[in-house]
Amino acid sequence: MQDKPTYLTRPYLPPLDEFLPYLQEIWESRRLTNGGPFHEQFEEALRQYLRVPQVSLFANGTLALMTALQALRITGEVITTPYTFAATTHALLWNGIKPVFVDIRRDTCNLDEELVEAAITPRTTAILPVHCYGNPCASGRLQQIADTYGLKLIYDAAHAFGVSVDGHSLLELGDLAVVSFHATKVFNTFEGGAIISRDARIKQRIDYLKNFGFADEITVVAPGINGKMNEFQAALGLLQLRHVEQAIAARNQIDRRYRQALRSVPGVQCLPSADGVRSNGGYFPVLIGPDYPLSRDQLYDEFRRNNIYVRRYFFPPISELPMYRGLASAAPANLPVATSIAKQVLCLPIHPDLDGQAVDRVIEVIAAFV
Ligand SMILES: *Cc1c(COP(=O)(O)O)cnc(C)c1O
Repeated sequence: MQDKPTYLTRPYLPPLDEFLPYLQEIWESRRLTNGGPFHEQFEEALRQYLRVPQVSLFANGTLALMTALQALRITGEVITTPYTFAATTHALLWNGIKPVFVDIRRDTCNLDEELVEAAITPRTTAILPVHCYGNPCASGRLQQIADTYGLKLIYDAAHAFGVSVDGHSLLELGDLAVVSFHATKVFNTFEGGAIISRDARIKQRIDYLKNFGFADEITVVAPGINGKMNEFQAALGLLQLRHVEQAIAARNQIDRRYRQALRSVPGVQCLPSADGVRSNGGYFPVLIGPDYPLSRDQLYDEFRRNNIYVRRYFFPPISELPMYRGLASAAPANLPVATSIAKQVLCLPIHPDLDGQAVDRVIEVIAAFV
């Protein structure tokens, strides 16, 4: 038993003295929010870092998701994954949209693109997939389906900050992509988020919507919300950008250490890393199969006894929550892969401050039973 707890994640923060000059500037200027100078700088810096056409900053990822659906006037039914964080599906309900669940693929834990067409009805207006754990969705096929049926494609890319495929950011894909800068994510501004869009016109609409719909002092063009990112968050974001590559490298090193060590443990399966993907090391999920001597929950308890805080991301599937389980598409028989993975998954600790010794302790707990 080690006394120092090992957490699933630990928010990354830059050295405090690097942040003080930013705070001083905010205190002196008294520009606290409403598209201040740090907001403008951070938006531009992110656009360049992520190599995407347009960025709209938000106070958090959930408001960004809700606004993305509003911006494209999504209504009726939206096809989505049951294997995600609650915010994805809740954003649909908050917009009065009916989620239609489609099962996931075992190799990526993402929406199974081959099952999407069968779930389309005359009321379907969009597809809302998630790049789960930062694993890229089958975006070529999803875009083709969206084009064929005249649907919008909005990615919940909350896990995908800094992920690229063959040098292209995942965030370029679809009509809109939404990222989160929550404390637990790879890149954080305490709370925060953004919508990545294709062109200046759609960005303009998003920016109206996040500020109550104000186009100017006396013109309100839409029933907008208050989704604005403040200057504290934006200043921190600017500073965090200077450290994020290092943080991702440290995470990816832990990813390699786990993969190497777990290769020889029967019954424990890592998700395959896809070719050409620069991943961000945001999560390290493993599947505890029937060949492993303990059940997933027994191993979870064993970690707790060792002061190691792993998480069952994502369990239960969103489709089993009380506000969704009555939907026809939520039936476990319709979602066999998601249902089975949710019972097997454990996310292991991974964050830039996790040292090699702590990683080895995690591996030892798993290996002790084989
Ligand atoms: C974190 C997360 C969100 C919500 O982002 P917040 O910034 O916490 O509001 C949405 N979807 C997924 C998949 C997430 O993991």
